[in-house]
Amino acid sequence: MRNKIVAGNWKMNLDYQEGISLFSEILNMVGDETRGNQQVIVCSPFIHLYNIAQQSKDSENVFVGAQNIHQNDSGAYTGEISASQVKSTGASYVILGHSERRAYFGEDEKLLEVKLNQALKNGLKPIFCIGETKDERESGEFWDILAKQLKETVFLLSNEDFANVVLAYEPVWAIGTGLTATPEQAQEVHAFIREEIAKSFNQEVADNTSILYGGSCNPKNAAELFSQADIDGGLIGGASLKSRDFLDIINVFN
Ligand code: PGA
Repeated sequence: MRNKIVAGNWKMNLDYQEGISLFSEILNMVGDETRGNQQVIVCSPFIHLYNIAQQSKDSENVFVGAQNIHQNDSGAYTGEISASQVKSTGASYVILGHSERRAYFGEDEKLLEVKLNQALKNGLKPIFCIGETKDERESGEFWDILAKQLKETVFLLSNEDFANVVLAYEPVWAIGTGLTATPEQAQEVHAFIREEIAKSFNQEVADNTSILYGGSCNPKNAAELFSQADIDGGLIGGASLKSRDFLDIINVFN
């Protein structure tokens, strides 16, 4: 049975103390509960990673992730952070392929394939994002674009490595805009992604892959989105910054 996951993406928000307090609140509410195949992942800025990974190291359902890594092992890359450095904090996940990194930092499929391997080699599980822009959706080209985003990155991995990947469908037009994909629109894409996984690997691999929805997901729309057959949870930006909202989304699975 695949994991049901609610992941928070804090982006470049919260100072050190604010992040530590928010994480403690989340951990106090859900960290000790036994939730079977349900997981909560918090992807914080680098400054919080060590503290929150240590806070949650005994929890069986709360995990910590970074939002980026550099593609190289180490060296003269001023200001960058490597996968092994992230791993050494106790974090276990990393977001890769987020549309903000693609748009503002020029990350393309070629670079993302290297970053994926770098994460996996260092024991970090990628939360790999794909998604189309508004123009791509309106032109109808988005099916090909989504397939390309998968084929040139995660579909090049071995079955063994792919088993450690969580996918996230995040339509760019829905991120931070308040415009959510309808449950039907999201389900249609999630089913397509699962079919593509089955074609590239096999049905069992497809059935075991968690595919999250992201883009203006909030306590009001999460239940309907997560009830769709191929939606296994969410990647939450804005609503993960308020403990009440984030907990309400987590509790959709209860
Ligand atoms: P949002 O962001 O929930 O604020 O739309 C989602 C994301 O970018 O992961």
